[in-house]
Amino acid sequence: MTNTIRPILDKALAGERISPKEAYILLSSPDWNPIVAAGHQRRLQLHDPATVSYTAYRVINYTNYCDVDCSFCSFKDEIDSDRGYVLSLDEIAAKTEEALALGADHIFIQGGVNPKLPLSYYTDALRLVSGKYNVHVRGFSPVELLRLARKENMPLPKLLAILKDAGLGSVPGAGAEILTDRMRQILSPKKLSGEDWCHVMGECHKLGLPGSSNIVFGSVETEEDVVEHLTLIRDQQDRTGGFLSFIPWVFQPQTKKFTVRHVRGWEYLRLVAVSRLFLDNIANIEVSVLGMGKDLGELALFAGANDINSIVIEENVLRSAGLKTLGAAVKFIREAGFTPKRRTLNYEFGKYEPAAA
Ligand code: SF4
Repeated sequence: MTNTIRPILDKALAGERISPKEAYILLSSPDWNPIVAAGHQRRLQLHDPATVSYTAYRVINYTNYCDVDCSFCSFKDEIDSDRGYVLSLDEIAAKTEEALALGADHIFIQGGVNPKLPLSYYTDALRLVSGKYNVHVRGFSPVELLRLARKENMPLPKLLAILKDAGLGSVPGAGAEILTDRMRQILSPKKLSGEDWCHVMGECHKLGLPGSSNIVFGSVETEEDVVEHLTLIRDQQDRTGGFLSFIPWVFQPQTKKFTVRHVRGWEYLRLVAVSRLFLDNIANIEVSVLGMGKDLGELALFAGANDINSIVIEENVLRSAGLKTLGAAVKFIREAGFTPKRRTLNYEFGKYEPAAA
């Protein structure tokens, strides 16, 4: 092992904060094995060593009309095309009922940025799912929220208060990809800036709408981009504290105009470990079994992750390689050597504890 990384790993394992420069040294090191081991050791210090958590939800992509034009996205349709869709309330109800019947108990509502939809569409959908079905709703990425606030000509906190009142329970950190200005120009110049992404998530946190955070890598990002992204997330968490988890994802090939590179398994595991060591203020690191597949997903449970993200019953943006049933999730965790522990989207466990004898 190079003698530059051991002191950094020891510092993190002693519970001290490592600097962005130290994270860069780890992310640049080919000596990935001790980094991964340290990530797992830190996870064992912070979480019950015997258990791995999971949840089950359905993603409802309410519309695929979008005017943002991310270079990697094959999901969207142009606003004026006649090929796209907007789900009716009846269709959202049917998808919710189907999800509940399959064992999911949370709904994740997300879509393209569709300027034709009025605020009432969002509030009606939220009232339906959270009211009629009494289901927790996680919904709307920062770009959807910011664009809706601008369209409705209202301050973001007011919009968030209206959505929360209608039933919004938490927010995904979707659309972060890589938050540096350089990468946003490449990936999605029409999306919100990294600064705006952090601002929207912070406003959600302040209003009692927690959520997740993530990184999507595997294109032309540099180690500097990754470290800057992690630092933006950690700094935002210091300010508003609403990120319940962090999820490293890898870009999936979707469009011809966007080239993904092959992310080697050890590179993914090294980033999981560095996320665990650097993000000392985010409790949970999730494995993206959906994106990485089961073999690498299992190894990530020994690199710093303590949760398998979830069973996602529908996800249109990614091609699924994930776990499709509750039984498959439980089996996956058991075969990795852990006890499965079901949670809610907001990391509450009490609902699923066995009743006391
Ligand atoms: S990733 Fe989301 S915001 Fe970007 S083009 Fe696709 S649907 Fe629109």
